[in-house]
Amino acid sequence: SGAGATKTFNFKLVLLGESAVGKSSLVVRFVKDQFDDYRESTIGAAFFTQVVPVDDQTTVKFEIWDTAGQERYKSLAPMYYRNAQCAVVVFDITQEASFEKAKTWVKELQRQADPDIVIALVGNKNDLTSRRAVPAEEAQAYADEAGLLFQETSAKTGANVGDLFKAIAKKMPLDS
Ligand code: GDP
Repeated sequence: SGAGATKTFNFKLVLLGESAVGKSSLVVRFVKDQFDDYRESTIGAAFFTQVVPVDDQTTVKFEIWDTAGQERYKSLAPMYYRNAQCAVVVFDITQEASFEKAKTWVKELQRQADPDIVIALVGNKNDLTSRRAVPAEEAQAYADEAGLLFQETSAKTGANVGDLFKAIAKKMPLDS
């Protein structure tokens, strides 16, 4: 037909995870398709929007909150994930502790956030496989058990970053 209008669905998305795992870099890769090795840490919260076409009739628009500094000011986090329909919990595949921290965030979200929140677990920096500390199978098994999407990405090369947000978009409720 081609005559139908495209419907746009807006969702608030937050990024959580230990400092330096690449949260801001992932957002910049997704929104601007850029990467900067020497990026300054974000102060406060940065706000971005990006659209993802799902099919001919449907577009998802993410309102992305990069909650910089929430690692240091943990008490601020609930303010960010309140009203969020999706959360991206990021760890660094070369840092075991960041994976443990990610699991803590998942538990907090599953207790405190909207019960319908879509959570994606992301193992970032998968361009650094020679320094890998978290096996992909282990993270995948945890994600399956906890009911999360899982993707390994590289904000540096751009690998899987588009796929990650596309997978989240497809999981969102798109029929209301
Ligand atoms: P944030 O504190 O979680 O927002 O992390 P940043 O986005 O500030 O990234 C922390 C550091 O890791 C920066 O030096 C980035 O350039 C680097 N970084 C981020 N993503 C990647 C990645 O996918 N691969 C590599 N090799 N480095 C990355």
